[in-house]
Amino acid sequence: MTNDNTLTSQDLTDIKGDKFCQAYQAFVEAGDFISLTRQFEHGFAQTGRDNQLNFTVKQAKVSLLDTGILLVEPENSVKPSKSIVISSGIHGNETAPIEIVQQLISDILAEKIQVKHRTLLIMGNPVAMNIAKRFQTENLNRLFCGKHQNITPCYEKFRAERIEGYVSDFFNAEQSSDVTNYHYDLHTAIRNSKHEKFAIYPYQGDKPWDREQLSFMAACGVNTILFGHGPTGTFSYYSSAQFKAHAFTIELGKVRPFGENNMANFQAMTDKLTALISDEDLLLKDFDNKDFNLFTALGDITKVSDNFKLFIKDDASNFTDYPIDTLLSTDNGEEYRTTQAGESIVFPNANVGNGQRAVLIVVPTTLT
Ligand SMILES: [Zn+2]
Repeated sequence: MTNDNTLTSQDLTDIKGDKFCQAYQAFVEAGDFISLTRQFEHGFAQTGRDNQLNFTVKQAKVSLLDTGILLVEPENSVKPSKSIVISSGIHGNETAPIEIVQQLISDILAEKIQVKHRTLLIMGNPVAMNIAKRFQTENLNRLFCGKHQNITPCYEKFRAERIEGYVSDFFNAEQSSDVTNYHYDLHTAIRNSKHEKFAIYPYQGDKPWDREQLSFMAACGVNTILFGHGPTGTFSYYSSAQFKAHAFTIELGKVRPFGENNMANFQAMTDKLTALISDEDLLLKDFDNKDFNLFTALGDITKVSDNFKLFIKDDASNFTDYPIDTLLSTDNGEEYRTTQAGESIVFPNANVGNGQRAVLIVVPTTLT
């Protein structure tokens, strides 16, 4: 403090630093990562991997890389064979996934879990978490694969770039062909779903869908899978396309405020992620089509003009199916009618701009 009673920028840094140090110490002792993340939504001066923000628990080094970004690296002599990203809160009001990641971190810091594979744990959008909104300015889950470069500056643009950097550093640190990459991006949905939990398997190009990964999803309690039909800007597609990670966007049910989630509903997910990072037997069943509801995309209904009309109720559940020849939309005299058995809708939204997708049309499929 200077003697004229005004704060210099150095004073402010010290005060912020002191507040941060106390909060960080509280996190190390009690493991409340949600609290630490929400207190420092824009980060802190001490950000970085090679600074003092790391400690050891049960033969694993825990490093706080940034707000909402925690790296756990086993210190064992065995070569790690897996690099695992588990992310939550890419949409800030999707609290159940954030609480699942919190549970994993609590268990790691309390030494209930011994982490045997490199693991990056993420709470994606702290600013949106604090305002209990999906996002502040832009939908973060459309900004990956460099799409953040094409928008005007906002928090999500900044955050997408930072997260890409951390994930890229994480996967690039172990590039041996013996190491397999994984990314499970956990979400909850805005609307009801005929199938409460479902996962979107990012588009794989010529690569086959991985049946063991589908079995893992089923073991996590997620047996409805929607196969992606093209490149996107989602977080899971980014890890899949850029780092060959086995990756999924996982929708775990409906959005609820913090503390109102029935965590027993997510126990299978938490248990299997725990088993994965601690290298326990995953006890997977062999893939069998009859254990799953598999869907492939038939196409989008795109809103072309202001005359667009969608004949799907606002509260229609995801995966609602319609009989053949049902009129779903009209636009400038063009009609969309269902033509196939089991045609179902996902993510309907009539309030999009012209040229954007108003609803995704899917049909049941099986793997042969
Ligand atoms: Zn989401």
